[in-house]
Amino acid sequence: MEHSASDLPSQWLQALQNDGCRITHARRAIVNLLIQSDRALGPIEIYDLARKEYSALGLVTVYRTLEKLEELGLIQRVHMPDGCHRYLKSAQGHEHLLLCTKCGKTVTFRGDDLNQLNLNVSQKTGFVIHDHWLQLFGLCPKCQGNT
Ligand SMILES: [Zn+2]
Ligand SMILES: [Zn+2]
Repeated sequence: MEHSASDLPSQWLQALQNDGCRITHARRAIVNLLIQSDRALGPIEIYDLARKEYSALGLVTVYRTLEKLEELGLIQRVHMPDGCHRYLKSAQGHEHLLLCTKCGKTVTFRGDDLNQLNLNVSQKTGFVIHDHWLQLFGLCPKCQGNT
C-alpha cells in the first residue's frame, strides 16, 4: 500500500515520536528536506540545507536524527565510491538504485535479470541465495554535460 506523498512528513514525525523522540523544529526541517530531495544527501549537506529552514539547527541533531530514521527504516544509507555515505528515502518494496556520483541524484528502477548470475554464484559457492541489493553508479544526464 502506497501512502500519499503529502502526509509523509507527519508519518515520519509520528514514527519518531512513537520511538520516544520529541518533535522539534530541527527534526521537522530534517524530515522535510529528506522527503523532498531526489538526491542522496550527506550529513553536512543536510545540515547546511536544513539550516535554511531552521537556522538554530545543530550538527549533532542531524546525526542523531539520521541514525534514528535509518533505524526506523525510513531512510537508507548509500555508499559512494569515494568512501563517504549519504542518505535517501528508503525504497518502496523491491527497487534498485541508480546514483549519480557527481551530484548524488538518485533514480530507482524495478526489474532485473539476475537469475543466471544467482545460479552461477550459488553453484560456485554452495550458497542458497534468497535476496540481493543492487546499486548502480554513473553520471546523470545533467552531469554528463558539464564534465
Ligand atoms: Zn548528476
Ligand atoms: Zn532485484
